[in-house]
Formats: sequence, structure tokens, C-alpha cells
Amino acid sequence: MSAYDRIGQQLSGQALDYVRAISPYVIGKPVDEVAREFGLTDIIKLASNENPLGASPRARAAMQSLDDLHIYPDGSGYALKTAIAKKFDVAPSAITLGNGSNDLLELVARAYLSPGRNAVFSAHAFAVYALVTQATGAQAKIVPALPPDHPTMPYGADLPAMAAAIDADTRVVFLANPNNPTGTWVSEPELRAFLEAVPDSVVVVLDEAYSEYVDRAFYADGRFPDGLLLAREFPNVLVMRTFSKIYGLAALRVGFAVGHPQVIAILDRVRQPFNVNSLALKAAEAALADEEFILHSRAVNATGLDFMAKALASRGLSVIPSLANFVTVNTGLPAGLVFDALLREGVIVRPLGGKSDTGGLSCHIRITIGTQAQNERALAAMDLVLTTLRATAG
Ligand SMILES: *Cc1c(COP(=O)(O)O)cnc(C)c1O
Repeated sequence: MSAYDRIGQQLSGQALDYVRAISPYVIGKPVDEVAREFGLTDIIKLASNENPLGASPRARAAMQSLDDLHIYPDGSGYALKTAIAKKFDVAPSAITLGNGSNDLLELVARAYLSPGRNAVFSAHAFAVYALVTQATGAQAKIVPALPPDHPTMPYGADLPAMAAAIDADTRVVFLANPNNPTGTWVSEPELRAFLEAVPDSVVVVLDEAYSEYVDRAFYADGRFPDGLLLAREFPNVLVMRTFSKIYGLAALRVGFAVGHPQVIAILDRVRQPFNVNSLALKAAEAALADEEFILHSRAVNATGLDFMAKALASRGLSVIPSLANFVTVNTGLPAGLVFDALLREGVIVRPLGGKSDTGGLSCHIRITIGTQAQNERALAAMDLVLTTLRATAG
């Protein structure tokens, strides 16, 4: 080994043990890479829960002026926070912005977690919760999910068990509603009972990345909770929203958190002063106002979700209930095999059962709901691939 490489290795060894122990987040395969690898041209990516309709035209228009690229962005995010405050009826002081909600999750971990403390979350929760927790040296207390044969919410978060897992060293609970990668959710009465059981001293991150996709009728009768209303009532609730999903702005990296102004002020202390760039600020503000695009995206997703869930179930596959913009399905075969075979058909999905999976989802793949044409193509590819793989396996 060269002296140069020996020192590199030494430096890697000197990083904090708990940082060295993190297994890296596996990103979905980029379309270009798949195209090169398999010599394909017509590829559909249904792997990262992006909006198949693109971005709001109003958001695109808002980014046309590049006159101010040499000026730092508004680090206070005044205009976007004002728009969020107005739309959701919250005080601007109850909002902070993030470089995606990923950034906000990191801020919570940095401010509240350290060695000796712990964060509680469910098995099959969003992979980033484990990453941000481990990066601080805090313990991740992963609570088993509801069983696969649960009558209404297989693989869902077991809120009573999560409440019971909280101890004197718990500072944060992470809960995505609906959850990624399962699509499962908790109802208003379930969440309320949970929040009443959680000590005031624990920050409950309620990650609502997919909540805009939820049928408004579910909000109306409590089948799905309004996190922003609960955040007004429970000062320890911190709601997170993102512009990466229904608003179609994943590339720009922008999200926001709503909570008690004192908690928000803490997050503001650990964030980069200019964590959200100016094009993202402008686009997000325009996207927020584009009700037509939001309604259309929700409607297209609802139709596609229903279509995909029924089509997969009619093939005898078991589908996890979902209110999000994806379905997670048990293929009955190792997920990695199905993923590879679908890739060869030009369909990129997300295999579960990675290192962060605590078991039980090793045959599941997650398919983002696309346009009707994309959904049909994904189904046709599934039919082909499952028939071939079953023949080989049997
Ligand atoms: C996609 C997603 C996010 C959003 O991430 P960004 O950093 O805002 O792109 C947050 N939480 C969950 C559960 C998600 O699936």
C-alpha cells in the first residue's frame, strides 16, 4: 500500500466509531446508468416516489429569472414561510425550512440526540431515521411493526408498543404518516392516544411527506389525522412536509417543519444559514399556490394507486395497504432477483429487504405510482418477470 493510501486508511479509522458503523443509504438507480448498463432506451423509473406528472408549471415559471444567482438566498426564507403560514394557518415563527425534509431530520438529530440518548421508531420506517440517529451516536430503538397477518394494517406502526419503548433517555420519536416504504398509516384517534401517552419531553417528528396524497375524505372523518392541527395542541409535535413528492420538486431539495416556535428556534441554531437555495425558495412558493396541479396530481395518483393495488392483488400477490404514491407488494421471490429482472425490462423499482430492514420485507418491492401508461408497463413487466423467475425457481 502506498503511503498516501495508508494515511487515507488511518484517517478513515479515526472517524467516530458510530459514524464508521453506518451502512450508506442506497439510492435508486439513475435512469442513465440503467440505460448504459443494459443498452436500453425506454426506461421508466418507479423507484423514488417522484411525481410522474413533473413539476407544477407555475413552479417552473417561477425559476426562469437567473438574474440573482450571484446573491446569497434569503436565509430567513421570508417569502416562502409567509406563504406556508398563510396556506396552513400557522405562525411564521412556527416554521423552519430545510434542504429537503432530510435536512430537517438531521437538524432534529443534531439538536436532540447524542451518545446515551435514544430515538424510537418503527421497523420498516423511513431509512433516514436510522441514518441520522446513528450519525449522532444515539441508540436507535426500533419497535417491531404490526404482524404481516394483521387484519387492517399489516406492517404498520404499532403505536402502543412504540409508546411503551420510550424510556428516560428517549428524546425523539420518528413517525412517518403515511409511512415509506410501506404506505401504511395511523388514524386520528390512534395518533391522539399515542401523543397523550408520550412524555412532553420527547419530540415527536410527524413526517407527512405523503400526506397531500391522502384522500380528503379520510381527513374529514378521522381515518387520517391532520398533523398541523395536532401540532397546535401538542407542543412536542414537529410536523415535516416536503416539496419533493406531490409538488414535484425533488431535485430542488426543499421541505419545511412546523412546531412550537421554541423548538423551531433550536433547529434554526443548528441549520446552515443559507440551507435552501433561492431557486428552490421561489419554485416552492409558486408550487404551494398551484392548487390545480396539486388536485390533479392527487387525482391521478388515487386512480393509479387503486388500479395497481387491484391489479397486483388479482394476480394473487399480497399488497400492503397504502395511502401514499406507491404500492409495496410481496413478490413471493427474493426482492433483489425481481428488481434485477425488472431492470432488464427497463422498469426501475425499489427492492426492500436491505440492511436496514429488520426482516419480513425481503420479498417485497416498492413501486411508485406512475402515469396510466407507466403503470400498465410496470404490470406487464411484472407478469413477464414473475412467470420467468417462477419457472426457474420451480
Ligand atoms: C421522500 C420522503 C421525505 C422527503 O425527503 P426530501 O429530503 O424532502 O426529499 C421525507 N420523509 C419520507 C418518509 C419520505 O419518503
